[in-house]
Amino acid sequence: MLNQLTISELTARLARREVSSREAVQSCLDQIARVDGQIHAFISHDAADALAQADAADQLLAQGGGGASRPLLGVPIAVKDVLAVKGQPLNCASKILGNFISPYDATVIEKLKAAGAVVFGRLNMDEFAMGSSTENSAFGLTRNPWDVTRIPGGSSGGSAAAVTADECIASLGTDTGGSVRQPAALCGCVGLKPTYGRVSRYGLVAYASSLDQIGPMTKDVRDAATLLGVISGVDQRDSTSVPEPVPNYVAALDGKIKGLKLGLPKEYMVGGLDAEVKAAVDAAVKQYEKLGAEIVEISLPHTDYAIATYYIIATAEASANLARFDGIRYGARVEGNDPIELYSKTRGAGFGAEVKRRIILGTYVLSSGYYDAYYLRAQKVRTLIRNDFLKAYETVDAIITPTTPTAAFKAGEKSDDPLQMYLSDIFTISCNLAGICGVSLPCGFTQNPKLPIGLQLLGKPFGEETLLKIAHAYEQSTTWHREKPTLGH
Ligand code: GLN
Repeated sequence: MLNQLTISELTARLARREVSSREAVQSCLDQIARVDGQIHAFISHDAADALAQADAADQLLAQGGGGASRPLLGVPIAVKDVLAVKGQPLNCASKILGNFISPYDATVIEKLKAAGAVVFGRLNMDEFAMGSSTENSAFGLTRNPWDVTRIPGGSSGGSAAAVTADECIASLGTDTGGSVRQPAALCGCVGLKPTYGRVSRYGLVAYASSLDQIGPMTKDVRDAATLLGVISGVDQRDSTSVPEPVPNYVAALDGKIKGLKLGLPKEYMVGGLDAEVKAAVDAAVKQYEKLGAEIVEISLPHTDYAIATYYIIATAEASANLARFDGIRYGARVEGNDPIELYSKTRGAGFGAEVKRRIILGTYVLSSGYYDAYYLRAQKVRTLIRNDFLKAYETVDAIITPTTPTAAFKAGEKSDDPLQMYLSDIFTISCNLAGICGVSLPCGFTQNPKLPIGLQLLGKPFGEETLLKIAHAYEQSTTWHREKPTLGH
């Protein structure tokens, strides 16, 4: 079935005119009709609009319009509900945006459309990307396609579940502390967090601006390379995007990894790591040795401080970024007798509990009496964490870790215990604090129940070519990425 194809498989068949984009889009729509009642990856999707885009793509295909300039021509790609797509709803899985419709396209959406993609759907997520399970959505839970009693991870849980359940060919997520890599690991797809500045954030609703990056979620590493190549590049509308040239990431995939050095951080192999996850990562390390890589033990000594540092910086930035949702400029409004009452009633009714918790925490750490003790200190520790990585990269080409300490947990298991939820981000957040790139890819399954396990590789700043090459070598020597959940297959 066409919805099961990867980007590279589908574009090859479209180019040979064996199938049409309309058929590919229709097969995704059919799959959504079949399984999304159980998975709920999508908040909404506009089938007529997607088919109209497909017809336009088919016309271009008939004129021979694919090729290098439009590497995604006719390919259905779904989008997390935090990215602006002109004319489509934008809710960030929150009630506070009401009936807001995006007046413009995010830069990444412009780029997807210019590459010929059929951009469709609003994928579920934790409200304002705050969470690790997609349980903090005002639009209900998303379920893990491998076991619908379990969470898909978060905050890009809809993006991961939709790819895994073949409801789209690929998707975009966002990653502030692991939100692309962690749900990719828990659902069993590939998730790439680019280096900070690699991809423009224009049109991404900001959570923590110094940490946020948009990343591809795909069925294999080749597709991640393809999508990254499309969405990367400097953008004058995002002053933090970096004018590094965009290499041909796909061409870099097939290089040799023999002789490359992979660092195993000793701090990551301790407490709370599930035995089956550890065994799968150990086996992946062995596989890399077989492929000719050299494994070196390294130390990232400030790892212990990463979660505390992240939850100070991310909440501080969130408290400032979310001030704009005041009932006046955007979306929903609850009237009050004066502006202050209007603000507080609107924000009280519009934001969910986790978002309120973060705003309160972030406002506290920025307040005049505590700024030095918390926020300023966290910024200094952030520099130490980044320096740990830069030092490690003097001797290794990439770092290898589990993506998450456990496989997908049960819905409801951690939702009453924010600290437990925060601790599940232990392996992913340092990457954002350091501003480096990272990818999660499938490396095995737990036995009973059968749930995916993710391997994380962390690369040098702007080292996505090498990172993807290392990921690809492992993927191509294993079959994990080919396994499908029984639901809908
Ligand atoms: N789980 C982390 C948080 O809640 C990361 C979320 C993300 O990357 N957007 O902040």
